[in-house]
Amino acid sequence: MEWLILLCLNFVFSQNGDLLVLKVQHREENDVGAAMDEIIKVNEFHASHINDGSNILREGDIAVSTGRRNKVCFARSCLWSKSVDGYVYIAYNLSPEYSEVETNLIKKGMENIEKDTCVRFVPRTHQRDYIDIQQKSGCWSYLGSRGGRQTVSLQSPDCLQVGVISHEFMHALGFVHEQSRLDRDNYVTIMWPNIWRDRLRNFEKFRTDTLDLPYDYRSIMHFGMYAYSQDGEPTIVPKNKKNIKLGQATSLSHIDKLKINNLYKCGWY
Ligand SMILES: [Zn+2]
Repeated sequence: MEWLILLCLNFVFSQNGDLLVLKVQHREENDVGAAMDEIIKVNEFHASHINDGSNILREGDIAVSTGRRNKVCFARSCLWSKSVDGYVYIAYNLSPEYSEVETNLIKKGMENIEKDTCVRFVPRTHQRDYIDIQQKSGCWSYLGSRGGRQTVSLQSPDCLQVGVISHEFMHALGFVHEQSRLDRDNYVTIMWPNIWRDRLRNFEKFRTDTLDLPYDYRSIMHFGMYAYSQDGEPTIVPKNKKNIKLGQATSLSHIDKLKINNLYKCGWY
């Protein structure tokens, strides 16, 4: 069925001008990949602008401040506060630069998170803590609630895809990438020789809280199988599960929603 196979080549230029083949991916029709695939494409292209000295990106799209507010934040340590009615309201400010269509996409990304969870995004009125959705270079977010204003960058047009938007909001809620779980080696094999050498650090493991949920191959927070491939070969291979796809293109997985409700203790869902 050769006609079903689509060859995708993605090239980016590194900072010193070398042409790099980020990914040579064989995909079957209708296989739309992982949200993180898009994020990597955008952020690698804009990498020189993002690393401007004021913040750096960990794991490809998690902003880490190099300034004094360098609080280490993993799941549970930087939660948004919960209202007495049981909902977690996250106030947001949206840049006026976004068009109506773009604004609707961002709202769809929010609805993706809200559906079947206790999280609600509300336009900011007076709240001290809020996310400020802006068109900086690339798609990125800080991890969890940092207190005060915190930027979520959704550059137009490349980051304005519902899956990408939801992925960045998940970081803002406090979630890191699924394959950085400490127990990931039981579920996937990291193919270190296939990873672009400059990006090996994006595959580190972290001591995160798994919230008693199983490893989720289809999480919107999972890297795709060819993330940061230097030669077109897979960089993450599922163990003992040949046909499983990694990541999610547009929506949260069922387990992603459970993660939110467990982290924020929303027992009624
Ligand atoms: Zn991410």
